[in-house]
Amino acid sequence: MNQTPAAALQILQSVFGYHAFRDPQGEVIDTLMAGRDALVIMPTGGGKSLCYQVPALALPGTAIVVSPLIALMQDQVAALRQAGVAAAFLNSTQTAEQARAVQAQVRAGTIKLLYVAPERLLLPATQSLLQAVRISLVAIDEAHCVSQWGHDFRPEYIRLGELALLFPGVPRMALTATADETTRTEIIHRLALNDPCRFISGFDRPNIYYAIEQSHGSIGAREQLLRFIQGSHAGDAGIVYCLSRKKVEEIAEWLSAQGLTALPYHAGLPAALRERTLRRFLDEDAVIVVATIAFGMGIDKPDVRFVAHLNLPKSIEAYYQETGRAGRDGGPADAWMRFGLGDVIMLRQMMSESMADEAIKRIEQHKLDAMLGFTESTQCRRQTLLGYFGEERAEPCGHCDNCINPPHTWDATIPAQQALSCVHRTGQRFGVSYLIDVLRGKVDTRIRQLGHDQLGLFGLGASLSITTWRGIYRQLIARGYLLVQGEHGALALAESCRPLLQGRHTLWLRTEPTAKDRPVRPARSRVQFAHPDDQALWEALRAWRKNLASQHGVPPFTIFHDATLLDLIDARPRSLAELAQISGIGAHKRDAYGVAVLAVLAPFTHSAQGQNQPGHRQDRQSEHIKKTPVPTARSETVEQTHILFKSGMHIDAIVQHRGLTPTTVYTHLAELITQGALTLREVVELPEAEIARIQTLMHAQTEPGTKPLFEALGGQYSYDVLRCFQAARHLKTPSKGE
Ligand SMILES: [Zn+2]
Repeated sequence: MNQTPAAALQILQSVFGYHAFRDPQGEVIDTLMAGRDALVIMPTGGGKSLCYQVPALALPGTAIVVSPLIALMQDQVAALRQAGVAAAFLNSTQTAEQARAVQAQVRAGTIKLLYVAPERLLLPATQSLLQAVRISLVAIDEAHCVSQWGHDFRPEYIRLGELALLFPGVPRMALTATADETTRTEIIHRLALNDPCRFISGFDRPNIYYAIEQSHGSIGAREQLLRFIQGSHAGDAGIVYCLSRKKVEEIAEWLSAQGLTALPYHAGLPAALRERTLRRFLDEDAVIVVATIAFGMGIDKPDVRFVAHLNLPKSIEAYYQETGRAGRDGGPADAWMRFGLGDVIMLRQMMSESMADEAIKRIEQHKLDAMLGFTESTQCRRQTLLGYFGEERAEPCGHCDNCINPPHTWDATIPAQQALSCVHRTGQRFGVSYLIDVLRGKVDTRIRQLGHDQLGLFGLGASLSITTWRGIYRQLIARGYLLVQGEHGALALAESCRPLLQGRHTLWLRTEPTAKDRPVRPARSRVQFAHPDDQALWEALRAWRKNLASQHGVPPFTIFHDATLLDLIDARPRSLAELAQISGIGAHKRDAYGVAVLAVLAPFTHSAQGQNQPGHRQDRQSEHIKKTPVPTARSETVEQTHILFKSGMHIDAIVQHRGLTPTTVYTHLAELITQGALTLREVVELPEAEIARIQTLMHAQTEPGTKPLFEALGGQYSYDVLRCFQAARHLKTPSKGE
């Protein structure tokens, strides 16, 4: 790493504002600058992009960066331009004119880094453009997309092997955050890398705290989620994953009603709305996206402070990739999951009904077994995760739920045998609830009719609670002792349960948590300051950064990362020279923002002992806070309805789509009418004569409320529609079209 050409180090310092390379950045750069190919597997947040950005600037010519992720491409280019680098992209979001302008710059040789979507790169026109100029290197990001076995497979990636012939002698590198040994071989083979140097960094993400909670009998999933967010992540950005679109909409709606900014995201939403949600997530602080797995790949937001799962992912790979979106900036972050018996049954059921061919089914089955084993494990989460990826870790991590709150276990052999026998004795055709009723001796007509109250097992398990029994069944299913069959979730015995039934095995299970068991947390996972003065400066810097970012139309983190702001708080620089010592402030940013940053810092640095006089600076600070613009308040849920309505979606469809009641959607529309954002006629779609009749009656009305109007109209129009009329009535000046 010491041999890294001086030019590279000089670029790292002057352009990016970092003082030294992290391992193995320096070696990767050496390799590339020496003209060799490379395979780089580095965890998210490990500084992957610098591995090609620095040599791209050090070498003559233009570097090509292939990325399948348009949003990521745009943010990287925005961040590079903030650092004063000539970077551009070519993708489908551009107009023909914008693309031509970029092509002209490439032809003139003024672009150092060109980001291209793979399908665009493979167009003959793009190829002839690039073959006519000097190419310094080719970097292929998200290289695991080449693997047909992975869940991110992109068919166009297969053709990227052609780049070897198109640009002979140009060093190429493939980069990804996740690739097991098979995938690595596949990447090298398909991308036709020429004897590449391999750089495989560890998989560990030490800043992430892993925690998995079982569902509590008395607390719903969303309450558990809210407790987690409010307890550890008030004011933070995060992602909440759910399995279905319906659940996504429901959770987003509910979190919004609790006063959080929570936006739904799934493949069923119009592209414009998805784009807007993504932009808000990147550009604002404290936005929570509630999403199906459709959201995430290529979200390069560094300051996502938590990823929450309200369902079980299907594999550890999926879990690791999704949780890996938290804490890319290296700051403290949480991976939190909540699941219950229902999830386990559903996944097992999906697997048994899968139409995939046997070989694929076996692989999927194996992956699901590993995932379920991980969730029920009493071992250190990190050891289990890293072990799955083939990385041994000698010691427990001390930074996961199982390390901090070692789970209690109990010898559940006898109840487990009873649970299995009950499945057997009732004919292997009942679901968990029925089985528990039999075990607990419930007085029930159906049980009596089927004669199950005559079984020796009936009532044998009355001393254990329903929660405990559900936990036993969950763990028996998770461990594969029981199979889930048929659409009603009927349980059947698996061959593997035999030793347990015959008493040749003992079974230790996790003790089920009760509602009172509040998990103990080691420390809060958000940025916290011991001193109020530091907190105030943090707020002031974030407000300044946000303001500047919106002026430039870029995400705040492209101006300065949180880590840079924290360094500023620690160091309190008072001159441009001192500022240049801060990590993440290169020459371009120092020149562009240095004076402004020093002005924000000034009220906090004016005494030599800096941090010893908080009271005085406290007052100055509140002026900063007040200057932060407050966005106009229209709740997010109303705005979602607004966008869907404006995109031409019919009201019934919005009701369906969002899983809300018609009255709720009409209430949103009425509010939008009051605000002048929609007109009455857009919403109600009635003939003019009818509108006039309703309005006349409404104006003649002497009693307040909607009911008298409803009755005066003989119940011909719904309350929902009439409320829209009343909303329009309160408008002082009719908006356009009224
Ligand atoms: Zn641990």
